[in-house]
Amino acid sequence: MKNVLIVDDSRSILSIVTKEIVRVVDANIVTAKSLQETLKIIEEIDFHIAVIDVNLPDSEHGEVIDLMLEKDVPVVVLAGSMDTKTKKIILEKSILEYVVKTDRSTIVYTANIVKRILKNYDEYVLLVDDTKTSRMFLRMYLEALKLNVIEVSSAEDALEIIDSKEYKFSLILTDYEMSGMNGMDLTVALRCKYSKENLSIIAVSGADSSNIATSFLRYGANDFIKKPYTQEELTARINVNLDLINLFKKSKDDANKDFLTGLYNRRFLFDSGEKIVSKNRRKNKNVAVVMLDIDFFKKINDTYGHDVGDKAIKQIQVILHKKLRESDLVCRVGGEEFCMVLEDVSSSDIEKKFEIVRKSFEDNIIEIGSISFSYTVSIGICYGMLNSLEDMITEADNALYTAKNSGRNKVILNII
Ligand code: GH3
Ligand code: MG
Ligand code: MG
Ligand code: MG
Repeated sequence: MKNVLIVDDSRSILSIVTKEIVRVVDANIVTAKSLQETLKIIEEIDFHIAVIDVNLPDSEHGEVIDLMLEKDVPVVVLAGSMDTKTKKIILEKSILEYVVKTDRSTIVYTANIVKRILKNYDEYVLLVDDTKTSRMFLRMYLEALKLNVIEVSSAEDALEIIDSKEYKFSLILTDYEMSGMNGMDLTVALRCKYSKENLSIIAVSGADSSNIATSFLRYGANDFIKKPYTQEELTARINVNLDLINLFKKSKDDANKDFLTGLYNRRFLFDSGEKIVSKNRRKNKNVAVVMLDIDFFKKINDTYGHDVGDKAIKQIQVILHKKLRESDLVCRVGGEEFCMVLEDVSSSDIEKKFEIVRKSFEDNIIEIGSISFSYTVSIGICYGMLNSLEDMITEADNALYTAKNSGRNKVILNII
């Protein structure tokens, strides 16, 4: 979880800001009332963002702000009013943003900045520009927003790196005129494969004609930024476009993911799993469909209650995430039942892999408050190729049934 520091000498401001941030983002929030308190806290915790009151009794010249900036932590400054002294402090330091605490809307605004920046730590942006200095400025601004920046000097290289899927880009910032393919052709090429909902494209160009901006938008760019731009304009446009991409992603996730574990749901399994199976059938390759079910789960609920049961279910995601590949499809298909579809794997590797998974559950001690317990899982695997995902699930289910009936805490492999 990401860490947020809030420093303000007013207890009520600390409480209001904390409440507002908690409302919009899941983060670990730590508060301090002075420079002294901050010094102690930062010895133990690394922060991802700090919201700092410019006027603190023991930090007359914004020392807490400097402290965080030295550690490369982005800072949002809270000011009671915009007097000369405050203005001076704000102008001198490279802070992310300042907010004058006038009413609740300014605190809501602050919370949204925090949310945006925390998300940015996991977002990748690709810079496409043939001029090194242009890339340098953009990189500087984007890194101040804590975005992960990758740069290339041609549209051709951009296509290659995007298609390689090495990074999952949310945003492409492209120049217009480049030697070789230009930014508009790049936009057209990208839109054949990636929709506006999945990948945001912003053209950044000094080209004079307004036709260029119009054409870019027609060909599928999400936005156009005209050079010269100010840092504020760039930041605002990037924020708006990333917020939109996140919103699209969230609505897709809401439809395809399970609320408790964040894993894909049954509906997504049949959608995406079927595609994996048919793709491999065409290539004459085998896939593995795996069913996993927690052993005697009812007992956990009965002994410790439903809430502890829920937490125990969440462990599935934690362990599977560690032991499986990013590309493996993992879905929650029932209360304590999970289905996985794996490709590019041999029958001996699949058995070894799930033996490790089985053992990990056996060894995993779950501690919740004063309670400590563990559970085992039974696993049934169907390896090979059948006519449909559904047929393979049935076979994996049969293997699971065998695992359950032969003592549980077992992996049964059914090669077809
Ligand atoms: P077996 O080893 O045969 O699989 O036994 P089991 O007790 O795990 O299986 P059974 O299918 O009898 O019971 C599953 C239980 O899982 C029943 C249900 O109350 C519980 N359950 C289902 N969904 C949830 C959930 O989301 N949260 C919690 N806490 N319990 C759930
Ligand atoms: Mg150029
Ligand atoms: Mg069970
Ligand atoms: Mg079950």
